[in-house]
Amino acid sequence: MFDRLVSFVREQYATNEFIPLHAPVFRGRERELLVDTIDSTFVSSVGAYVDRFEKDTAAFTGSPRAVAVMNGTAALHIALVLAGVERDDLVVTQSLTFVATCNAIAYCGAEPLFIDVDRHTLGLSPGALGAWLEEHARIDDDGVCRTRDGGRRIRACLPMHTFGHPVDLDALVAVCDRWHLVLVEDAAESLGSYYKGRHTGNFGRIGVLSFNGNKIMTTGGGGMVLADEAIGKRAKHLTTTAKIPHPYEFFHDEVGYNYRMPNLNAALGCAQLEQLPAFLASKRALAERYIAFFAGTDLQPIVEPEHCRSNYWLNGVVCDNPEQREALLKATNEAGVMTRPIWALMNRLPLFANAPRGPLDNAEWLEARVVNLPSSVTPDTP
Ligand SMILES: *Cc1c(COP(=O)(O)O)cnc(C)c1O
Repeated sequence: MFDRLVSFVREQYATNEFIPLHAPVFRGRERELLVDTIDSTFVSSVGAYVDRFEKDTAAFTGSPRAVAVMNGTAALHIALVLAGVERDDLVVTQSLTFVATCNAIAYCGAEPLFIDVDRHTLGLSPGALGAWLEEHARIDDDGVCRTRDGGRRIRACLPMHTFGHPVDLDALVAVCDRWHLVLVEDAAESLGSYYKGRHTGNFGRIGVLSFNGNKIMTTGGGGMVLADEAIGKRAKHLTTTAKIPHPYEFFHDEVGYNYRMPNLNAALGCAQLEQLPAFLASKRALAERYIAFFAGTDLQPIVEPEHCRSNYWLNGVVCDNPEQREALLKATNEAGVMTRPIWALMNRLPLFANAPRGPLDNAEWLEARVVNLPSSVTPDTP
């Protein structure tokens, strides 16, 4: 079975060499725009490509405003600051995520509150969140959600669209509204993913994208804050050292961050964004081939949830049992086809071991079974 899988993956990439989990592809105007940036001398924190990349990303996602920053983690940090997260607050999130989601919470001096995921989305479960809040939270006279035991403020909710599959957004928005939680979407993995026709990252007050080298498109390192005009303006100010615009005077009106994206990276982003529709088509076609391959086996390919169009950034399968997961990982990696287990749950890391949490049965079940498969754009892409 795993021999057949190795041959199948090798066919997709037409190579006998090592096949990585995800490699970037540069087949557009990357060189041209990078050389243009160098020739202009505006390689750093000011330049026309930053403005263009922000406008093009806003247009692609349908977000009123997009603010480019140096990576997705920085975008998450700023998003939480703008959501009003402060020291000792709790921020609801899933334990099945990449560590950056929780690190950003910690940068604010806040603590994650781990809630279970749904098996079909791999993302934060609105049902589990609603149930936890009913039992453990209250809304005080000041309109703030706090824990009943200890009175800690629960400020925000930070779901993550795992591997590009959107969480159940309608239900999650309703729970957040009911409990006065500010919804911030970690859409780092879901550029090009839609829920009921609307791009992920646009459902909460703020959304965050990543353009790290392993994402669906890359700027080398980079991230984006998606928000409305007013919050977008604040994000720009805070990420550019909170400087009051002036031709030559330096004046800063609060503690700001130097989180802006350099123009060199934005130039790469402009060239990559032009190819995003082709990347998305390639990934969808690859996912369909994986799904057909696994039909009739005891491995379940992860498919886009109902009402969603996923970007299929990373393909994955749910193994029948943990032993099969081990066997798959061993057979494929030894054959030079890279596969990887899903992340260890965040509550297992020493840094978040004491964070409050609800039951995590689905997260634990998935942790023991999910394996990611090679998912780079395939060479047959037009
Ligand atoms: C990639 C990623 C980020 C951001 O990562 P950066 O490397 O800082 O751009 C955040 N959250 C998730 C879930 C991610 O996969």
